[in-house]
Amino acid sequence: MKFDVLVVGAGLAGAAFAAALRGSRLKIGVVESRPPARPQGWDPRIYAISQANVAFLSQIGIWQHLDRSRMAPVYDMEIHGDSGGRLDFSAYDCGLRELAWILESSLMQHELWETIKRQHNVSLLCPAEPASLQQDASHATLSLKDGRQLEARLIVAADGRESWIRQAAGIQVRNTPYDEKGVVANFRCALPHRDTAFQWFRPDGVLAYLPLPDQQMSMVWS
Ligand SMILES: Cc1cc2nc3c(=O)[nH]c(=O)nc-3n(C[C@H](O)[C@H](O)[C@H](O)COP(=O)(O)OP(=O)(O)OC[C@H]3O[C@@H](n4cnc5c(N)ncnc54)[C@H](O)[C@@H]3O)c2cc1C
Repeated sequence: MKFDVLVVGAGLAGAAFAAALRGSRLKIGVVESRPPARPQGWDPRIYAISQANVAFLSQIGIWQHLDRSRMAPVYDMEIHGDSGGRLDFSAYDCGLRELAWILESSLMQHELWETIKRQHNVSLLCPAEPASLQQDASHATLSLKDGRQLEARLIVAADGRESWIRQAAGIQVRNTPYDEKGVVANFRCALPHRDTAFQWFRPDGVLAYLPLPDQQMSMVWS
């Protein structure tokens, strides 16, 4: 099979990239080992989506289709420093409808997946995994474990932090560990969170509370 662009990995990066090419004449192949799953209840992986990200996701046709009942706006932010400092931001003061949106990773991932599945210039190959990669000056050939051969002018490595493509292409990386740990959890609050995001910079770590619908909050503690 021949493509202009082959995207390996349909996580947020790969799927958004493929969706962003929907208006092009490019023939795109997307190779993904497994379809995205929606966890039971609320996803522990929660994102804060800025205005610029909303603009991008709207442009690629994703934002309009996200389930609003699973998203919370952030109208205010309270940031507390470790020596008593404090910063407050308000959407009202900034002349914005909201500062950001809080939503689940899997919600966005699912919508991106459904979008590229329907996209006329995308062939979604899933489940599929690469077995070998060959490159020359004009194109690359990716052989899949199931024996299929894919050829493309460009291969996009969007297969996550342990990228198989990156390793096969001989691209070196240097990891710099921060020696930090993160804990995430979702809570139901006894009192309304007033669509406010909180962050505390404390000597023992950084703690954030992000508002979720139905008086829930997502905690990120690092
Ligand atoms: C708790 C938590 C909160 C976070 N919050 C934020 C946030 O607020 N904002 C933010 O920007 N980021 C956030 N992140 C980080 C964000 O989740 C990642 O940066 C993002 O998911 C990376 O996307 P990706 O598409 O590059 O990789 P991945 O999501 O890892 O996707 C890679 C894809 O490639 C596929 N794949 C891998 N190997 C192969 C292979 N050999 N063959 C075929 N397919 C393959 C995988 O199945 C997967 O679908 C958070 C992360 C965590 C853990």
